[in-house]
Amino acid sequence: SNLEYVDKWAVLNKYKPRDRFSHKGTYGHSLIIGGSYGKIGAALMCSEAALHAGSGLVTAFVPKCGYQTIQTAFPEAMVVTDVNDNFITDINFSIDPSVIGIGPGLGKHPKTIKAFTSFLKRNKAPLVIDADGINILSENKELIQFIKGKAVLTPHPKELERLIGVWKDDYDKLEKTKQFSTENDVVILIKGAYTVTVYHEKMSFNSTGNPGMATGGSGDVLTGIICGLLAQGYTLFDATVLGVYIHGKAGDLAVLRAGVEALTATDLIDFTGDAFLDLI
Ligand code: AMP
Ligand code: MG
Repeated sequence: SNLEYVDKWAVLNKYKPRDRFSHKGTYGHSLIIGGSYGKIGAALMCSEAALHAGSGLVTAFVPKCGYQTIQTAFPEAMVVTDVNDNFITDINFSIDPSVIGIGPGLGKHPKTIKAFTSFLKRNKAPLVIDADGINILSENKELIQFIKGKAVLTPHPKELERLIGVWKDDYDKLEKTKQFSTENDVVILIKGAYTVTVYHEKMSFNSTGNPGMATGGSGDVLTGIICGLLAQGYTLFDATVLGVYIHGKAGDLAVLRAGVEALTATDLIDFTGDAFLDLI
């Protein structure tokens, strides 16, 4: 069937435990591209989440103003900076990442849009595109051809609407999203309670998560988790389904301590390990 309800048992069918004889090279290298003045935290949380989801290595690519913040708050990460201080203008790096997450805190400065465009045309790595990365795609639809077959898009409802247009009702939203996924050969999320992972005609409805997760930065953490899973070799679809489940489960465990009001995106990172532990 094309429909799936993703509970713990569905996830256990996809989950791959670690091999005893592995090393960090086994688990890939995530590159997180994002951040701008005042939004470095988005790139930081996304990068941290990628590592907590199991990526062997994580590099953050941020404008210069983010350098100290990320090196200090997240010593496990490597940092590569743009030539510019406050926003990204030239996406140039010498590493060979297994996956690239792009968008959190990115902003939409005209020079950032130019850099994003040139990057998409050159890039060969699997992509997770979020936030302003999606907004730039929506405003420059001719760029979508460059992500065919290799991207996950993680829009929140407003970003989804900019991408696929307004929908009449929930049924119409699912149909329009399936159509977009099929035409462009991408995995795409419909976020919210029961987040849906859509890939062509396939739809997976997630069972975890709660309204405590309706808080700034929650989506940045999800993008990082999906990147971390892609780095470890999961397919685009499986990494997304598993990532959405783990993110929601982290929220369900965090809310037992914090309550729905106080829960923050950082709590989701802190409980990512507990979410994985619940699987075994
Ligand atoms: P964003 O708006 O990009 O920060 O993403 C918000 C994240 O929190 C998504 O993964 C949503 O699925 C999740 N989320 C937000 N509100 C809820 C809710 N009421 N129930 C479950 N998950 C939610
Ligand atoms: Mg978001």
